[in-house]
Amino acid sequence: MTSEEILFKISDLEVSYGSIAAIKGISLQVRKGEIVTILGSNGAGKTTTMRAISRLIKAESGSIMFKGHELTRLPAHKVVSLGISHSPEGRRVFNILSVEENLLLGAYTKSKVDQEILSWVYDLFPRLKERKSQLAGTLSGGEQQMLAIGRALMSQPELLLLDEPSLGIAPILVKAIFAQIKKIAAKGVTVLLVEQNARAALKLADRGYVLEVGKIVFSGQSEELLNSPRIQEAYLGKQKK
Ligand code: ATP
Repeated sequence: MTSEEILFKISDLEVSYGSIAAIKGISLQVRKGEIVTILGSNGAGKTTTMRAISRLIKAESGSIMFKGHELTRLPAHKVVSLGISHSPEGRRVFNILSVEENLLLGAYTKSKVDQEILSWVYDLFPRLKERKSQLAGTLSGGEQQMLAIGRALMSQPELLLLDEPSLGIAPILVKAIFAQIKKIAAKGVTVLLVEQNARAALKLADRGYVLEVGKIVFSGQSEELLNSPRIQEAYLGKQKK
């Protein structure tokens, strides 16, 4: 991997909650245009990693570089204006605002809303357009996930952080949402995707990292991870022969 191609790089990142070390020195990198997934079971540290990138939580030590900027020294809003947007775990839409109001809030770092981006989001997720005046709290879980992704796109990110977009959503909608993530990446948005649904994530992603109790224990091309007996047994539900 040549350095010119690297958009984003984490080196030796450590994050703690009080005396509990959640991330214990991870390193990873993402090239421009890639879809990269971080896999791991409950409590592995996936959400903590995403929150550290977005500066919603402090890094104990290590570096997070994005386009020549050291993110660990910046406030969260600056990270957004540099071009990183975060669709958080559990969606966190504003329930008492309409779908469109939620989307417009996603563009808060911009001086004005780009109508083309709004149209693109509605093209990606027509269901949001149909329901643009509906209160976000009354959407189904899958629709709220679409809204969370759409809202994250409104700041026109170069790097989109997606935390468990499949969580609690029917398989058919997961398929539909993942197909749209592929389209988002095809538009030139680089994607870092955290998932417990390893199979769906590896089918979508170019490469993957496996996180276990705060450490990266395996990384490679998605194909390699899908074919690894160790990953199959631990994350893809296949038994060792
Ligand atoms: P899941 O898939 O269940 O969301 P995860 O891989 O995203 O898991 P994290 O939420 O990052 O895992 O949690 C990593 C570790 O940090 C866990 O041991 C968790 O209990 C701990 N942790 C997370 N948030 C806090 C917090 N606010 N205070 C204390 N410990 C925390």
